[in-house]
Amino acid sequence: MSYPLRRLEGARVSSLHTRERAAVQHQPRLGPRSYPSLVIALPEWVPAFMTTAPDFIATPHERMRLAIDLARQSASHGGGPFGAILVEAESGRVVAPGVNLVVPLSCSMAHAEMVAISIAQQLEHSHDLGAVGRPALQLVTSTEPCAMCLGAIPWSGITSLVCGSGGDVAERIGFDEGDKPHLWSELLASRGITVLRGICADEAAAVLTDYARRGGPIYNGRDKTD
Ligand SMILES: [Zn+2]
Repeated sequence: MSYPLRRLEGARVSSLHTRERAAVQHQPRLGPRSYPSLVIALPEWVPAFMTTAPDFIATPHERMRLAIDLARQSASHGGGPFGAILVEAESGRVVAPGVNLVVPLSCSMAHAEMVAISIAQQLEHSHDLGAVGRPALQLVTSTEPCAMCLGAIPWSGITSLVCGSGGDVAERIGFDEGDKPHLWSELLASRGITVLRGICADEAAAVLTDYARRGGPIYNGRDKTD
C-alpha cells in the first residue's frame, strides 16, 4: 500500500523555539576533519511539563497517559507526535521522558524511545540499564517501536515494554516504521522483555491522526514509492 509523503516545509523549521532554531542554524564552523558533538537536549518545555507529572505512576494505563501527553505536547511544540517515558517497573518511579526530536535536532535517531533510553543512560552513567543491582526498567511508548527502536530495546537493558497505538496508525498517516518481524513482540519476549500492546490505544492513535489532520509534517528518510 502506498501513502502520500508530505515534505517538511521550511516554514515549519522557522516556527521552532528560538533556542532550537539557533541550534539548527548556527552550528559553529568546523575545520577539516573536525566534527560536531552529538548533543541530544530535551526542549525546555519538557522538564517544565514533567514538573506537573507525578514522581511515581502505578499502572500501565496511567504511565501510558503520560507518554501520550508528551506526544501531544511534542506535536504542539514543533516536534514529532511521539512520546515515551522510562519508569521503574515495580515502584513506578518516573526515570526519564522522551519525545521525538528528529526534525529539531536534525537527527534521524532521535525517536522518543531512543531519547528516553539515552537520557536514562546518562542519568545512570551506564549503557546497561539492566545491570545487576539496578531496578528493572519499563519503556512506555505512545506508538509501537519502529524497526530502529525495536533493535535498540534489547541493547538498552530494559525489561518490559508498554505500547499505545499500533505502528500501523503511524504508517497510515505516512511515517515509515521500517521493516519489523511480524512476531516482533514474541521475539522481545524470548529475550526476557515482556510486552504489553494496545494500552490506551485509541487515545494514543488520536494524537497521530489529529497531527495528520492539522497538516503536521511527515518526515521520512526517503520517499515511499511502493
Ligand atoms: Zn523509532
